[in-house]
Amino acid sequence: MVLRRAEEQTRAEGVRLTPVRRRTLEILLESHRAMGAYEVLEKLAADGYGKQPPVAYRALEFLVEQGFAHRIQRLNAYAACLSPERNHAPVFLICRSCEQVAEADASALRGALQDLAARSEFTPERITVELLGLCARCSAEAAA
Ligand SMILES: [Zn+2]
Ligand SMILES: [Zn+2]
Repeated sequence: MVLRRAEEQTRAEGVRLTPVRRRTLEILLESHRAMGAYEVLEKLAADGYGKQPPVAYRALEFLVEQGFAHRIQRLNAYAACLSPERNHAPVFLICRSCEQVAEADASALRGALQDLAARSEFTPERITVELLGLCARCSAEAAA
């Protein structure tokens, strides 16, 4: 579904979802956690897309620019975007134990952050909120 949306959107905007870009998005979608560029590169290399780091970086940057993926600063990694809404303000719930990343909707937060920015006469171009902690499974394990 995410892939189909990416195909439709790139077609509508006249940008190219090349095979390597498409495969990179698939790789992120198959993994349910954020992935580092080198991890993505290894998978691309295994699929015959070459071993040059710029290949992975360029594909990942493209996906981020188009809104199909997010860069998680905290982990220096990338995750596929699961929200159908473009230009949204995602909140990432990052488990510090298993590194699973969940994306939550932060529309309520978005207004508050924009007000806060406006009061400082600041124009935000990107809003990303990262929460670090334990996922349900890891916190249950920690309590056991
Ligand atoms: Zn997203
Ligand atoms: Zn966890």
